[in-house]
Amino acid sequence: MKIALHICCGVCAAGAVKKLKEEGHQVFGFFYNPNIYPEEEYQKRLKATYKVAHELHFPLEIGIYDSKEWFKETEHFKQEPEGGKRCEVCFKIRLKNTYHYMINSGLDAFTTTLTISPYKRAEVINKIGREIGRDRFLVRNFKKREGFKIAIQLAKQWHLYQQNYCGCIYSMSRESRSRGLKGK
Ligand code: SF4
Repeated sequence: MKIALHICCGVCAAGAVKKLKEEGHQVFGFFYNPNIYPEEEYQKRLKATYKVAHELHFPLEIGIYDSKEWFKETEHFKQEPEGGKRCEVCFKIRLKNTYHYMINSGLDAFTTTLTISPYKRAEVINKIGREIGRDRFLVRNFKKREGFKIAIQLAKQWHLYQQNYCGCIYSMSRESRSRGLKGK
C-alpha cells in the first residue's frame, strides 16, 4: 500500500520507515509538527528527517509550521502532565493533517511514527487515528519487536540529532525552557 507516514523526528522515522518497508509498503513521509518549540529545535528535527529520507529513499512533504494555532488549541490543557489531555489534542492535530495529506495525495492509508516512543501509549494514538480515518488508519505499535532499539542504532550510524524532550514548551525542562524563551 501507499502509506502517508506522519513523522515526528528523524530518529523515530528511521525505525518506523524501516518496519513499513519490510512489510512491503511504499512510504510517503509527512513532517508536520507545529508543537515543536522553539523553532531552532524544529529545524534540527527536520534536518534529521531529511537525512533519513535520503538514507531510506522515500519522498518527504513538509507541513506548515503553524505553531500559533497549536498553542491556541492546546492552551486550555497547558497544566496537564505529559501523556495527559494536552497530548491527546496534540496527536489529534497532527493526525488530522496527515489524514488530509493522504487524501489530497491520493494515498491508500496513513499512520504515524509516534508509537515508536517508549514514552507514548500506542493504544491512545491508535484510537485517535481510527476515530479520524477509520480503516484508512494503519494501527501500529512500532516500538514492538525492538523497534525503538533499531531506531537508536540507525540514529547512531547516521549521526542523527537526538532530542531530550518530547517537543512542546511544556515538555521542556525548566532550565531549557527559560533558555528557549530568551532566544525567542
Ligand atoms: S508533551 Fe509531546 S505529545 Fe504532549 S503536547 Fe507536548 S509535544 Fe505534544
